Amino acid sequence: MALPKRRTPKSKQGTRRSHHHVKTPQLVRCPTCRSMHINHQPCRVCGTYHGRQALERDDQLAR
Ligand SMILES: [Zn+2]
Repeated sequence: MALPKRRTPKSKQGTRRSHHHVKTPQLVRCPTCRSMHINHQPCRVCGTYHGRQALERDDQLAR
């Protein structure tokens, strides 16, 4: 089984892990209902994406 030739120093390990942080999702305002939703995803409030109905709403399912 292959083994590393030298141990990785803690500073090198930390430099590698410096990119491992979690980014906060970018929120944009919905042009239809003016509420905040995640960019490039349909609005969870009104269910529209790019001016088109992408998700079924609860009040539409109740009909
Ligand atoms: Zn909306």
